[in-house]
Amino acid sequence: MDAATIATWMHGIDVVMREEKDHLVQLDAAIGDGDHGTNMTRGFEAVVQALNADSSSPPGKLLILAGRTLVGTVGGASGPLWGSALRSGGRVLGDQPTFEGMQLVEVLAAALASVKDLGTASLGDKTMVDALEPAVETLRARLSGGASVADALGDAGDAAEAGMRSTIPLQARKGRASYLGERSIGHQDPGATSTALIIRALQRAVAQAS
Ligand code: ADP
Ligand code: MG
Repeated sequence: MDAATIATWMHGIDVVMREEKDHLVQLDAAIGDGDHGTNMTRGFEAVVQALNADSSSPPGKLLILAGRTLVGTVGGASGPLWGSALRSGGRVLGDQPTFEGMQLVEVLAAALASVKDLGTASLGDKTMVDALEPAVETLRARLSGGASVADALGDAGDAAEAGMRSTIPLQARKGRASYLGERSIGHQDPGATSTALIIRALQRAVAQAS
């Protein structure tokens, strides 16, 4: 995997966020302020533009550029959270031109750590952590067990989607949805939903690279 894998991943996120924009808006309208689809679409559109203007940077630097762009263009909670996540992930790779499966795990683990650090959410708080943490753990476990990156990412995508669905019966303890108290129960978290889309986009980008 290399810089092209990251560029393909970011491009794939941009496409799927536009496709799912209305759905994400609906989910956020139910337990938030209805801007999540707009936030993610605006953010990743800007990321793709920034990456298109950079044809020479290594993968880690592209992730840092993507993160910085998200922070600069998205006002909602998801911008700084995913922005710092991608910057932290990018720093793991330094200036190296390529990376392997276990380093991809470290990139995503650093991204997760950054989200948890900034947002102080734990598993079960009904946030993007509920999709991202199981994805990272599954990816690590499957690669350690000898699976191919493609297979491990497929299972990580399944784990992210299971985590996304697991938010439905939960009461939100972080973010805007927590203001609703018990009324947040019964709705799927928008940030966990977009996170599952982001992991699936990574799976497709890596499949395309190999
Ligand atoms: P805002 O809530 O500012 O309108 P968005 O609508 O773009 O921002 O994003 C909402 C999503 O952000 C939530 O569904 C949740 O997954 C995630 N989120 C909010 N606060 C936190 C937090 N403290 N930690 C982790 N994720 C959070
Ligand atoms: Mg919102």
